[in-house]
Amino acid sequence: MICIMCPMGCELTVSKVGDKISVTGNSCNRGVTFAQEELTAPKRIVTTSVKTAKGVRSCKTSKPIPKELMFACVQEIEKLRLKDAKFGQVIIKNVLNTGADVIVTAN
Ligand code: SF4
Repeated sequence: MICIMCPMGCELTVSKVGDKISVTGNSCNRGVTFAQEELTAPKRIVTTSVKTAKGVRSCKTSKPIPKELMFACVQEIEKLRLKDAKFGQVIIKNVLNTGADVIVTAN
């Protein structure tokens, strides 16, 4: 798998024997953490847009959320009816009880 934690994109080789996960090809320890999470509980930052009365604004989650909740997160954002939203504004706090907020990323 390719590590997506930074632009270097290290190509990781991951093997699992019993409960032990071994990772090679990583240039730093974040690659190991990424590979372990990918095998056990993959997460992603959701990046999308929100409609407001003044136009569309880009937004994203403040941290990665469980991959299986990504679609539900987008649905929550689509439900919003905002007059406007400014850069940095939290438009959903603790989305789907993930601990992540949805934040506007551009005016
Ligand atoms: S292993 Fe480290 S250096 Fe390589 S892509 Fe992942 S975060 Fe970046």
